[in-house]
Amino acid sequence: MTTKTLETLIKNAFEALPVGVVVSNATGDVVWANRHAETLIGVPGSADLIGHRLDNLLAEVTERVLLNEEDQDGVTRQLLCLRDGQRVELRHSAMVCGGAVTLALKTQWTQDADKYRLLAKYSSDVTLAVQEGRIVHASVSTKRVLGWEPAELVGRQVAELCHVDDLPAVMQALQELKGNPELDYRVRARMKSGEFLWLEARAVIADEIGRGVIVINARGIAARKKLEDELAAATKRLAELAVTDPLTGIANRRKFDETLNVECRRAKRHSKPLSLLLLDVDKFKNLNDTFGHQVGDEVLKHLAQTVASYGKRGADLAARFGGEEFVLLLPETCLDAAKQLAQDLCAAVRQMPVPAGVGSISVSIGVASTAGHEDELAGDELVRRADASMYAAKRAGRNQVCVQ
Ligand code: GH3
Ligand code: MG
Ligand code: MG
Repeated sequence: MTTKTLETLIKNAFEALPVGVVVSNATGDVVWANRHAETLIGVPGSADLIGHRLDNLLAEVTERVLLNEEDQDGVTRQLLCLRDGQRVELRHSAMVCGGAVTLALKTQWTQDADKYRLLAKYSSDVTLAVQEGRIVHASVSTKRVLGWEPAELVGRQVAELCHVDDLPAVMQALQELKGNPELDYRVRARMKSGEFLWLEARAVIADEIGRGVIVINARGIAARKKLEDELAAATKRLAELAVTDPLTGIANRRKFDETLNVECRRAKRHSKPLSLLLLDVDKFKNLNDTFGHQVGDEVLKHLAQTVASYGKRGADLAARFGGEEFVLLLPETCLDAAKQLAQDLCAAVRQMPVPAGVGSISVSIGVASTAGHEDELAGDELVRRADASMYAAKRAGRNQVCVQ
């Protein structure tokens, strides 16, 4: 059989196939095509494919490229949606002997694998399969959601994708997974851009895919996370406002009452002393009458800061008790120490900066303490004693400290 006869035979065989066959030369020009290829990817109205560049022809008839991937043998596989609505699968061989062969198959896209791949591509969920901590499969949607090509992720440690602060929680979740069918967790995933995206993830063990394989499905929750954070911040702010005095910014009476009861119980339980200072501004009504309430308010703000600066330990609490009265609660402070502190504070108030023209102000301070071993010392009893001492200081001429 001559080469010519063999060529004719092969061409006839190609013509009989229900598959488009296109042979292109090294520069990509079509040198031969069977009739099926012409009906499938031929440009309507033009004579034939021969002599045209295959990529130009395809660009003209293609509406969208649905898939484009290369397998290990160098065959590029494309799934095209043509302008006439048809879907065509193309397989471009690698260049051999100065030419390449392209097979074109009309497809109803009934092939399940492609359908699921496309579903995954358009899904907002990212799917990863992880084995021994390494990513063994990444869905095509990783490109859209995180910016990573699946191939860039395969082989990497899954930990590399997690924000360092979320790693302990993620590792614990994956550890706990061993005893659970599935587990939900949240994580910030590293995007290709370097930014992080909050994901809500569900991990399941999928031994049917491979030994110890964990499948992770995750979706972006940036918008929801932002709302949740805002809500948490607003709730925290509201809780702070509920215990803050609006004029001075220090704790209010409600916070003081709550803390007083807690500290009284603690003092009794541990037999520790607890002291209370109650301050009242001397002749404050005169100051208001002379300089106006706004100046009075300014003085109260300065005073609040001065009182708070004397509550140096973590458990100390400075609060506005009401009007021009302030309290300083001092856990684990005995009467002598509280008295000394009250005298220092009384002197500091006289030196305190006040609005121009006011000169200086003074306070009368009552001090009360419990040694911690009294049977049933209620908080209001401590307040009553401090209040009585404060009035004793007023009666004794103001601008001084009086102890119970
Ligand atoms: P004393 O030395 O006996 O304590 O005399 P005082 O004038 O301080 O006592 P009094 O109780 O008669 O007056 C307290 C004043 O504190 C009256 C009230 O207008 C003023 N005051 C209470 N709360 C505020 C406030 O929030 N802002 C201002 N500017 N004044 C306040
Ligand atoms: Mg008063
Ligand atoms: Mg007063």
